[in-house]
Amino acid sequence: ATIEEKQYLVRFKADKESHLKITDQSICLENCPDKPCTYFCPGEVYKFEGNRIQVGYEGCHECGSCRIGCPQNNIEWKYPKGGHGVIFQLA
Ligand code: SF4
Ligand code: SF4
Repeated sequence: ATIEEKQYLVRFKADKESHLKITDQSICLENCPDKPCTYFCPGEVYKFEGNRIQVGYEGCHECGSCRIGCPQNNIEWKYPKGGHGVIFQLA
């Protein structure tokens, strides 16, 4: 299935505040040539645009990959507050 099809199976209620934060954008810019966050995230949350990583946190599936996938440990990840976030549906 494509990413778009998978996302169709996820009902998402976005929190108002991002639960994801890049700790230091200069590390992304200067010390992370491959920028793996732009391809390991199934929600395509991270995009490198305008010399910084943009975080589209509304698309996050809470898979947790970015907590371990960033080689610089440069992503802060908090569980979204209760009542928000992803509800997985079995298709
Ligand atoms: Fe920045 Fe980590 Fe993404 Fe690299 S993987 S661009 S350090 S957030
Ligand atoms: Fe992407 Fe998963 Fe991290 Fe959410 S938890 S931003 S879906 S890698």
